[in-house]
Amino acid sequence: MKLNEAQIEDITGKVFRTIISNGKDGILQSELWKELDLTSRDGSRVAIRLEKRSLIRREKILESGRWTYKLFAVKLPVDTTSIEQAPCLTCPVEHMCSLEGSYSPTSCNLIEDWLINSFDNSNSNKKPQKPSTKK
Ligand code: SF4
Repeated sequence: MKLNEAQIEDITGKVFRTIISNGKDGILQSELWKELDLTSRDGSRVAIRLEKRSLIRREKILESGRWTYKLFAVKLPVDTTSIEQAPCLTCPVEHMCSLEGSYSPTSCNLIEDWLINSFDNSNSNKKPQKPSTKK
């Protein structure tokens, strides 16, 4: 059964946390789909969504004679519990966010704050806010 847009959004955080939990080694997308009981079509939609937000990178690799992707977190926070507070997971404008869009991870104040806080390991429990647009 194909997941709808809301279900895809729900699973996005789970996929991201699983990728993060595999640390620097990353995870084969086929293993991830199996672990989370996703079809490769839905899993790929989620992976592309996370890649578009610059949260993960997909690396094409040859595995047992077949081309597939390995997924890596772009940056690994010191404390994985901070992922729960990643602003993209609750962002009200996520559907409008892309590298070329008015809202973009490259200019987003929320993602920047979150990364800094994650690396400083000094998170506070902030409520989801609306990010600023590109200047
Ligand atoms: S605007 Fe910022 S918080 Fe929202 S999805 Fe884009 S990068 Fe994430």
